[in-house]
Amino acid sequence: MCGITGYIGKKIATDILVDGLKRLEYRGYDSCGVAGISPKSELYLKRVSGRVDALDALIAKDPLKKGVVGIGHTRWATHGVPSEDNAHPHTDCNKQVVIVHNGIIENYLDLKGRLLKTGHKFKSETDTEVVVHLIEEKLKTLNVSGAAARGAILEPVFFEAVRRAIAELQGSFAMAVLWAKCPNMLLAARQHSPLVIGLGDGENFIASDVSAFLKYTKKAVFMNDGEIAAVKADSVSYFNFQGKKLDHSPVTIQWDSTMAEKGGYKHFMLKEIHEQPESVENTLRGRLLPLNGDILQQEINLPSELIKNIKGVQIIACGTAYHAGLVGRYVFENFGLPTSVDFASEFSDRAKIVNKDILVIAVSQSGETADTLYAVREAKASGGKVLAITNTLGSTLTREADFVLYTHCGPEIGVASTKAFIGQMAAMYVLAIHFAVIRKNIFEADARKYVDEFLKIPRLIEDTLAGEGAISKVAECFAQSEHFLFIARHINFPIALEGALKIKEISYVHAEGYAAGEMKHGPIAIIYKGMPVLAIATTSKMLSLVANNIEEAKARGAEVIAIVDEDSRKIIKASKYIVVPKTLEILSPLLTVIPLQLFAYFVALSKKCDIDKPRNLAKSVTVR
Ligand code: GLU
Repeated sequence: MCGITGYIGKKIATDILVDGLKRLEYRGYDSCGVAGISPKSELYLKRVSGRVDALDALIAKDPLKKGVVGIGHTRWATHGVPSEDNAHPHTDCNKQVVIVHNGIIENYLDLKGRLLKTGHKFKSETDTEVVVHLIEEKLKTLNVSGAAARGAILEPVFFEAVRRAIAELQGSFAMAVLWAKCPNMLLAARQHSPLVIGLGDGENFIASDVSAFLKYTKKAVFMNDGEIAAVKADSVSYFNFQGKKLDHSPVTIQWDSTMAEKGGYKHFMLKEIHEQPESVENTLRGRLLPLNGDILQQEINLPSELIKNIKGVQIIACGTAYHAGLVGRYVFENFGLPTSVDFASEFSDRAKIVNKDILVIAVSQSGETADTLYAVREAKASGGKVLAITNTLGSTLTREADFVLYTHCGPEIGVASTKAFIGQMAAMYVLAIHFAVIRKNIFEADARKYVDEFLKIPRLIEDTLAGEGAISKVAECFAQSEHFLFIARHINFPIALEGALKIKEISYVHAEGYAAGEMKHGPIAIIYKGMPVLAIATTSKMLSLVANNIEEAKARGAEVIAIVDEDSRKIIKASKYIVVPKTLEILSPLLTVIPLQLFAYFVALSKKCDIDKPRNLAKSVTVR
């Protein structure tokens, strides 16, 4: 999510910052801005709603832009619509402290309430702005004017104010902070969002990724969570959040700038597959614990009465989001809430069944999917209340829906959706557990068990991703096949559909996903000798039936590639195995989808397809 840049040295900071922002624009692009200290020691701030080119044009002729220290940001909004007021950098009340931030401050409402009471004036709707006011507050308590009058050096004061402010933050952040009174030092801090320092000769850089400064230096220090860097023109010092000094040795970056954008991955799709632990984490963050749902309730504003009174859920979505909806159906129904799922493009006649007793959930990564928007309008016309699950703040869907739950996955660039899908599934679990608690369909102690297991999922996804090498070998074995079949039962059936869709999208070959039990009712006729059949066979109450279906496919010559966990591996007999970690059956789609995404990716790679921009497809489908 979003791009941060920072510069301190001898050159004109804004030129370097804007150039860096152009390289980071792939990370976020709804608005942008820069701030610095002008040669007249004034704070310089320019922001635009829109792209970096517009910012560039705005500052091109401005004489004040010529300072040698500054920070920049290209935003991917999470809190507050994309607009100039919400664009970063944000300032304190006196326009002395300025900040850029990537991530989400979970406790921003609490902090904002407190800061408003002490007289702070807010100018944006962002979560970020609380941080800069909090730093201002800390500077006050450190008695800056007294310190300045005594001629004390302000750098330690600035550091301490930022350190104390950070101690009160919950959530994720990468940030860069500048204080007009202390123009020789930038402060950078990292917790759960990427941040890297570039080390130049008499100049240093801060950035979300190295592509922003590779033109100037290849020497970099990747900051760890829980660290603050004090960045000056000729030195950088590192500290932990307790203020203890740390040592870091720089690494030399071998990537060129195109590789750097993709974090060293060959394609955005692969990078995004690897970002999935973070996508799940970001979508869960602050929404599950404590299990009181208050934060979620405040955020989506969905009245408890409505949750208690609904008789069912109707999900509408297209493509991959539809598969997330199908997983959602199993999850909601597991907690006692009847749920239907429809393709948005096929919803028209069914819209009539919607009424006030049905909550409609519309799922769209972009929030601009024309079929979904149309279906939402029809559902609303029938008297339905609509909750949107989307990744894009300010999108049309968010404006038309009654309630919104954001997946915080960051921009997805690969046309074939991966991390947005996992975010949509995560959102379904968050809602289903929240609804179940409010509707008293589950005891809190049981809900907690789900939550505890759910919180382990990001780490388990990492473990699954570690099997990439083995998955690529399996994919290469079958890459020239003209047909692929994916089978599974119950909650993994939608994942079979998703696995087939991924192959179709990026490899242009025929693939089908089937409910394993349905095979014998027709599709089994298509199996020929050597046909690859990917079977999801992780531990579940259906496992023995899946095992039967695998045998049936093998008996007709299929080469079965089984997605198993360590226990089901002992039961299933297949040609090849891909092992994923074991989790609760209900959560297993969050893991089983990973090898299927990787499998599709490596098949497409072998076939030399244009993975990030597959033929005939668009990222956001804005036509019906
Ligand atoms: N949460 C912040 C905002 O909405 C930062 C978003 C970002 O990472 O770009 O402004």
